[in-house]
Amino acid sequence: MFSKKSQKLSIYNSLSGKKEPFTPILKDHVGMYVCGPTVYSNVHLGNIRTFTSFDVIYRYLTHLGHKVRYVRNITDVGHLENDEDQGEDRISKKARLENLEPMEVVQKYTTDFHETVRKFNLLPPSIEPTATGHLIEQIELIKSLIKIGFAYEVNGSVYFDVVKYNITNNYGILSKRKIEDLIHNTRSLDGQSDKKNPQDFALWKKAEPKHIMKWESPWSKGFPGWHLECTAMSKKYLGENFDIHGGGIDLKFPHHECEIAQSNACFGTNAANYWMHANMLTLNGQKMSKSTGNNILPDEIFSSGSPLLSKTFSESSVKFFMLQAHYRSVLDLSNDALLASEKGFNKIIDAISILENFKDFSDNTSDFDITKWVKECYDAMNDDFNTPILIANIFEAVKFINKIKSGIAKISEKDYNILSETISSFVFDVMGLKKTNILQKGDDKLDEVIDIILELRNDARKNKNFELGDKIRDMLKDKGISINDSDKNSSFTID
Ligand code: AMP
Ligand code: ZN
Repeated sequence: MFSKKSQKLSIYNSLSGKKEPFTPILKDHVGMYVCGPTVYSNVHLGNIRTFTSFDVIYRYLTHLGHKVRYVRNITDVGHLENDEDQGEDRISKKARLENLEPMEVVQKYTTDFHETVRKFNLLPPSIEPTATGHLIEQIELIKSLIKIGFAYEVNGSVYFDVVKYNITNNYGILSKRKIEDLIHNTRSLDGQSDKKNPQDFALWKKAEPKHIMKWESPWSKGFPGWHLECTAMSKKYLGENFDIHGGGIDLKFPHHECEIAQSNACFGTNAANYWMHANMLTLNGQKMSKSTGNNILPDEIFSSGSPLLSKTFSESSVKFFMLQAHYRSVLDLSNDALLASEKGFNKIIDAISILENFKDFSDNTSDFDITKWVKECYDAMNDDFNTPILIANIFEAVKFINKIKSGIAKISEKDYNILSETISSFVFDVMGLKKTNILQKGDDKLDEVIDIILELRNDARKNKNFELGDKIRDMLKDKGISINDSDKNSSFTID
């Protein structure tokens, strides 16, 4: 007997480098922390890929019946321009360049982030804490780290002592880097002379007098280091040890390695039992990135257009393109790939429409092994959230649905119900794709084409060819376009 609760999910754990059976700490409850955006510029499609990957993970865990507490933070202070604690705070820099209050920058790009994830139909997390809202917790953590001897203060700044930590722990447990290589490879940068060892990282930085984003602390007026906020906020909302910690693969080192070091030093745990990393979206073979400018913004894809693309695409087509690759594989964005994904996605939506309008069931038999197919869909997702295999299975069902439509295959009512429910729960609930996005009224080309069709239909009706008029109306209805006839003219709406 099929049951969602009995599904055996396995997750690739970056800590062990292996797929492992997923066992939550508390039965049926999952705690998941995902590093959120640094809100200093518009979110780009690469960011969206990572958040989409974790949205599908969140949705699937919920689909299986887990009660998930999903925490995704907003980094609104402390993320410096470079990973070696060098350069300006990204938000302060933007505030300086745009002549804004830092909190105006934060507000502007947090709003952009929220609007964009909503367009992509990503579910909001259960808690969305901000770094600036958790300074007390961060200061407390620093005090603990100093007390147990893993952190030291120099000239108002506080650093984590990586070399000392590594004597009793393994700094490199996640990234598999060796501390000797790190010592060898870390550049000794100007202004880092405060640190005992170049690979130590900042927990608290004393602010320059002109720096705006600064707070009182026992050590100086300053601001927290970037790695600290995630340890403080995950501990506060999920506990010292929780189930899943996620982020893009570029955060594995140093950010996540440092989070693990902080957690191990304070609580004796690796924070999460499963560390998950989503791979990068590239453009022209290079990582999409805010700081290098090699990126496409969501609005360029939906509406304003980009010189790299031949047309605009809907959110669901773009999301479908992302989900056709496994979350751990690199994915390169190209016009051809988006065109192919749009076509594939439309085929699935057409098949779902056929199912919705279907009534001609066979007595008891079907030309499709529905039980096997459902199992294969779950097997795909249970195998470390393998959406490309899930989509390949859905295309098998699409082929079958088209055969039913052409009258060369049959389905029983019972199987039809299972097929309809399964396909729509995977497409809409688990992958979070949206049907309405395929056709958008207001898309100039679409409006023009439908107006042509309506004019030809009106000609047919004027010539009393009502049969043709009705056929056009029914065919458009089949594609989700309703014609509304009035005395004078006809208009259309998209369902
Ligand atoms: P940031 O706002 O730069 O802190 O990044 C927010 C999230 O997006 C992090 O999890 C990053 O790892 C992720 N990210 C950044 N660039 C890319 C990219 N090109 N492809 C996929 N994920 C990305
Ligand atoms: Zn983080």
